Amino acid sequence: MFEDIPVDVSPMYEGERIRSANMFVELAGPKSIGAELVQVREEVENGKVEVIGPNLSEMKEGEIYPFGILIEIKGEKLEKELEGVIERRTHELCNYIKGFMHLNQRDQIWCRVSKEANDAGFELEHLGKSLSILFKEEFPIIEEISVTLYTDKKEVEAFLENTSKQYEERDARARELSDEDVDVFYGCVMCQSFAPTHTCIVTPDRTALCGAINWFDCRAAAKMDPDGPIFEIDKGEVLDEIRGEYANVNTVMADKSQGTVDRVYLHSVFGYPHTSCGCFEAVAFYIPELDGVGIVDRDFKGETPLGIPFSAMAGQCSGGKQVEGFAGLSLEYMRSPKFLQADGGYERIIWLPKAIKDSLIDFIPEDLADKIPTEEDANSIKEIRKFLRENNHPIMERLKEAKAKTAEESGSVEEESSTEMDAMPEMEVEGVPMTQVAYAPELTVPSASGGVKIIFRNAKIYAEKVIIKRK
Ligand code: SF4
Repeated sequence: MFEDIPVDVSPMYEGERIRSANMFVELAGPKSIGAELVQVREEVENGKVEVIGPNLSEMKEGEIYPFGILIEIKGEKLEKELEGVIERRTHELCNYIKGFMHLNQRDQIWCRVSKEANDAGFELEHLGKSLSILFKEEFPIIEEISVTLYTDKKEVEAFLENTSKQYEERDARARELSDEDVDVFYGCVMCQSFAPTHTCIVTPDRTALCGAINWFDCRAAAKMDPDGPIFEIDKGEVLDEIRGEYANVNTVMADKSQGTVDRVYLHSVFGYPHTSCGCFEAVAFYIPELDGVGIVDRDFKGETPLGIPFSAMAGQCSGGKQVEGFAGLSLEYMRSPKFLQADGGYERIIWLPKAIKDSLIDFIPEDLADKIPTEEDANSIKEIRKFLRENNHPIMERLKEAKAKTAEESGSVEEESSTEMDAMPEMEVEGVPMTQVAYAPELTVPSASGGVKIIFRNAKIYAEKVIIKRK
C-alpha cells in the first residue's frame, strides 16, 4: 500500500521527535505561517495530490518554509460537522510517517522533515499520498479524497484567510449553545498516546484544550464511531454548577485515567482543575502574590510573570497531569460566559499577552478591558501590582478584603496601604500558623553528593514566618 513511499509509514513512528540537529527543513511553526483544513465537498478528484510551491528537493537544508495542508473529502455519510474531528487526526496520521513530525493543530501546526527522509528521496507528494491512504483507512466513510500542500508564501497566506473563516464559523456555531442546554457532554482520549491520564471533557461552554474540537464536532464523531476515541457522557447529576463538577464526568475521568484523577472542575484552576495533555492553546496559571490568574498562549515568546516562558510552564503541567493552580485551555473557552467562572472569570485575570487580549476584546467585559495588563504594561509582580492598583482592578479590593480577614482572624497584622507596603524595606508576616507561601508543580533539588536528583511533585511549601524584603 505504501510501496511508492520511500520511508516507512506505521503508527510505531508516532512518538518520533525531529530535533534541529537532525532536521532537513521546518514547515510552518512559530517562525513561519501555516495551517491545516479538512473540507467536505460535493465533488473531489479522488487520489489527487498537488504541491503548490517549492517541493522538498527544491528547499534549502536548515530553512523554514510556510506550509498549508488542505484535505478535501467526499462520502455519502460524511457531514460538515465531522470536518473538525477528521482534521484533528491529521496530527496523528502525519506522525505515522518516519521522518515527518507534526505538532499542534489548525493554524498552529509545526512540522519538520528529517535529513534521513530527505536522503531517502521523500517529497511532499509522498506526504499527500500517505495521508490519502491513512485517512481512508481510519475513516471508511471517506469515499474520495484529495490533498493539496502549499509551500508558496502567497498561496499559504491566501489559504490562511480561508482557514480562519472556516475555524470561526465552526467556533461561532458552538457559541450558540451553553452547558444547560444539553443532556450530554463528550470525552476525548485522542491524546492518551502521549498523555495517558488525560481525557478532554468537551461541553458547549468548554471547547477542547486543543481548540480544534467543539461540542458539535464531538456529537458528530460519537455518532459516526460510538467505539472511537470520542464518546458520549450522560451529564447526570450536577455536583457543583459554578465549578462545573458532574458525577458522571468524575466517574469517566477516574475510569479513563486508571484512577489517577477522580474529580474535575471544568470551570476552575483551583481544587481539581481539568487535566492538561500538551496540545492546549493556552495555560491559565495562578499568581499567588496577587491572588490572581494569568494566561499565556503558545505564541507568546517572552517570560510570564512567574519568570518562565510558555514552554517551561507547559512542560510542568502537561502529560495528563492535574496540577492545582494551572489549567490548559483553548482560546475559544475564553469566549465562554463560563470561562473560569468559579474563580471570578475575567475579574480574576490579572495578566495576559497583548495579542490574546486584542483577539478576545469583544468577550472581555468592557469595564475590565483597560484594567488587565499585558506584557506592554507590566511584566514583574511589582509592575503588575502597580498597574492593577492604578487602574482599579477588582482584584485589589479582593486583596484588601483578604488581608483584612487575615488580620481579623490573627489579630496581629494591621492593614497597611499599598503605599506603605512599597515604602517598607522589610515586612514580616506572622500569626497565621503555617501559611502556604509557594506551590510548585515540580521542584528539582540538586544533590550535593552527585549522582542523585530529588524531584518533588506538586510540592506545597509552608512557613511559620514570611519575610518580604524590598530590593
Ligand atoms: S486536546 Fe483533547 S479534544 Fe483535542 S485531540 Fe487531544 S484529547 Fe482530543
